[in-house]
Amino acid sequence: MKKAVIALGSNVGDTLANLKEAVSLLEENGCRVLKTSRLYQTEPWGYADQDDFLNGAALIETDLAPFALLDVTQGIERTMGRKKLFLNGPRNIDLDILIYEDETVRSDRLTIPHPRLGERLFVLRPLMDIVPDMTVPGRGTVAELFAAYRGDERVEETDLVLMEP
Ligand code: ADP
Ligand code: MG
Repeated sequence: MKKAVIALGSNVGDTLANLKEAVSLLEENGCRVLKTSRLYQTEPWGYADQDDFLNGAALIETDLAPFALLDVTQGIERTMGRKKLFLNGPRNIDLDILIYEDETVRSDRLTIPHPRLGERLFVLRPLMDIVPDMTVPGRGTVAELFAAYRGDERVEETDLVLMEP
């Protein structure tokens, strides 16, 4: 079994229900969800004229190799009817693979660790909830990246959770 961390985001429809559905679908498709972060209301990144996102992250355990895991996350996006209109635009579900064990993957289809992980507070905040001590290959720990964050994104903690403890 390998450990991986997935980022979840939604800003269309019932965003909490969308994120929960994605977690269930991960569990039905070869991923065991070990831990989930709190959820954060965050300002859209890259294209401002859209609703806020609800963002979180999940630590999973899986036998799926990185590309097989991407097939699963993209399959879930398709199953949930994700229609992406344009780059950084609104979406009912977005699943990104942030970290996969201590592996580095660099291809057109998949980059791990996720290239923009350290620059986005809406990713770092949920990561701090679940894996502050995890090493991001080549970049130090999550806590170190969080401490080094210098941006000013609006990321508000909510009292929403993905799974009851
Ligand atoms: P965003 O960058 O906003 O998440 P998409 O979800 O549409 O945009 O993803 C765009 C492409 O990113 C996908 O086609 C996928 O192949 C690629 N990709 C590269 N690395 C990753 C990763 N670590 N997790 C998820 N998708 C990735
Ligand atoms: Mg994505």
